[in-house]
Amino acid sequence: MIDCDVLIVGGGPSGSSLAWALRDSGLDVQLLDKHVFPRDKVCAGWITPEVVSTLRLNLADYAVGRTLQPFHGFRVSRLGGREVHTKDSATPVSFGIRRCEFDYYLLQRSDVTYHECVSVKQLVRDDSGYVIGKRFHTRLLVGAGGHFCPVARSLGAKPGGEETAVVAQETEFLMSPAQAAACKVDARFPELFFCEDLAGYGWVVRKGDYLNVGLGREDKHHLAEHMQSFCEFLKARGKVPYDMGRKFPGHAYLLYPHATRRVVDDHVLLIGDAAGLAYPQSGEGIRPGIESALLAAQIIRRCQGDYSSAALSRYEHRLEERLGRRSQKSVSERLPGWITAFVGSKLLSTRWFVQNIVLNRWFLHAHQPPLTVE
Ligand SMILES: Cc1cc2nc3c(=O)[nH]c(=O)nc-3n(C[C@H](O)[C@H](O)[C@H](O)COP(=O)(O)OP(=O)(O)OC[C@H]3O[C@@H](n4cnc5c(N)ncnc54)[C@H](O)[C@@H]3O)c2cc1C
Repeated sequence: MIDCDVLIVGGGPSGSSLAWALRDSGLDVQLLDKHVFPRDKVCAGWITPEVVSTLRLNLADYAVGRTLQPFHGFRVSRLGGREVHTKDSATPVSFGIRRCEFDYYLLQRSDVTYHECVSVKQLVRDDSGYVIGKRFHTRLLVGAGGHFCPVARSLGAKPGGEETAVVAQETEFLMSPAQAAACKVDARFPELFFCEDLAGYGWVVRKGDYLNVGLGREDKHHLAEHMQSFCEFLKARGKVPYDMGRKFPGHAYLLYPHATRRVVDDHVLLIGDAAGLAYPQSGEGIRPGIESALLAAQIIRRCQGDYSSAALSRYEHRLEERLGRRSQKSVSERLPGWITAFVGSKLLSTRWFVQNIVLNRWFLHAHQPPLTVE
């Protein structure tokens, strides 16, 4: 039996960031994942400069042998409506990465002992922590296994039950030289297309010769049909190849205000998607996942071995200070759908709104400086 202080379930950006943040803590931290890395992850794959600075990423180092596509602005429209171009910024407003590369890079950089091909199913709490599958014992168990995390389930989460989740489909592929030459998407400007009812949006993001196309909605009905008609729309405009594949892997996750998961209990806490932390308007989950990991690391250090729910509840407070209170309906959510859709369509064709609200506030979260944790 492997015995450790902290066992992290999940080697995505949240799990590996926690391991990285605890690397000099003196604690025996170990991580396990059901996949073998590098593994893929359904994601558009853009990260903001705040992610880069919070993780102290050396972009020159990262770019060696990996895709790193700087974005200098966005193109935004309501599906079929007027396309608005945001300012062409001299410095990148975001970066396109490939999750198979990014996640593996962060995991290796964290220098944590990790165990692959371990799919956690059985969790048993004892007096001093948790026993996982008769192979591991830990004093603190951290659920970083994404939306369907088994640790979150053990705390009562019911993915696919009453939770209101974003459901999404996506594909990322390397274009052939002919496809790349014909593709009308400029790699410097990701394109976003809000659904008519504003329940979600589609995107097409070019990262060098990789093309990432997807659509996510906070409404589980008819996703495949929405995705299909979105692809037809893009094909007709030369933005995606006519002969692109028809397989779109799907995934789900929770937006922070609408998530109701318990995030701490005795000897256990949740970070990242397992805790349901993605930003509401953009669905960006990497930054809040990483921030939750750094906040958790800070509290774990302060706990000095006392992993009672009372001691760990400070983590929950820190999350709330950072991300606000949950379950607060925005003004637009309180309005009838047709008003929201009407006003939304007008606003989405306004350059000021797209630049300042959609891009700077919703997608870049530029109003919130990078998290600093002492
Ligand atoms: C279509 C789509 C597009 C997105 N685009 C973006 C984007 O462009 N930018 C952005 O910031 N966010 C985006 N997101 C959200 C983002 O992908 C997530 O918020 C982010 O991956 C959360 O990271 P995480 O480490 O918490 O979980 P994950 O990245 O999901 O990692 C969880 C890990 O846990 C492992 N695991 C799961 N179950 C078990 C188990 N039982 N046993 C062992 N290991 C297990 C998995 O193998 C995985 O490696 C997107 C999401 C979707 C669905």
